[in-house]
Amino acid sequence: MTKRLFDTHTHINSDDYTGEQRSALIARIEASDVAYAVDIAFDLPSARQAVRDAQENPWCYAAVGIHPHDAETLTDEALEALRKLAWESKKPGGENAVVAIGEIGLDFYRDLSPRDVQREAFRRQIRLAKELGLPVTIHDRDSAGETVEILKDEGLLHPGAAQRVLLHCFSGSAEQALEYIGLGALISIAGPVTYKNNKKTVRVAEQVPIEHLVIETDAPYLTPEPFRGRPNESPYVEYVARKIAELKGVPYEEVARATCENAKRFFGIST
Ligand SMILES: [Zn+2]
Repeated sequence: MTKRLFDTHTHINSDDYTGEQRSALIARIEASDVAYAVDIAFDLPSARQAVRDAQENPWCYAAVGIHPHDAETLTDEALEALRKLAWESKKPGGENAVVAIGEIGLDFYRDLSPRDVQREAFRRQIRLAKELGLPVTIHDRDSAGETVEILKDEGLLHPGAAQRVLLHCFSGSAEQALEYIGLGALISIAGPVTYKNNKKTVRVAEQVPIEHLVIETDAPYLTPEPFRGRPNESPYVEYVARKIAELKGVPYEEVARATCENAKRFFGIST
């Protein structure tokens, strides 16, 4: 059977895994309906691991970047290392291993790096993405709209913009989602859409047209129902797709096909 799902945001590179656990995880992904996954970096070591994962597994691609929590580690040397990784890393067939800069953005909920440092690291990495012609995967938590304002200011979001911005684990309202897709953003739905009482994300999934949606796990975090409580992993992205299918009243196969095509187009994957 042809595999159908694209997990646009996962952390196979997580330092929670031993080498053995990572191999076992990869075997479970290969036995699932997951056709593609993007392994997302949060710091420099995880960026290097993501590139290794992409080079070793045909279905895996990497995003490299420094998470807002670690914004203080974005030195000139680190930025240069990210540039080199993104520019030079190839898969065995010659295809680029790095398909996005991420995850980058602002997190004023946990405030693990000073806000000014977060803003500066975010802008520098947006500029790196523009320079390399890569899209960005955005982490936005409690920034009161500032993340989107910076993306507008840097020219990535505007009416009629090409789709270069993926809003990972979107947690805003349906009204905001509709406004952002009008500016060229792609909305990514994660496990919380399956949680009871999460009416907000349910409305986003109902109202955003399928052409503007992709799906993700953010594994090992945000495990969807019915597995909430255990560590998340890419194969569970199926439950996100099934929930969206139920909410939109369309077949699962249609959600799988459309979100996979949207993601391939966004990341520039043609295989
Ligand atoms: Zn993440």
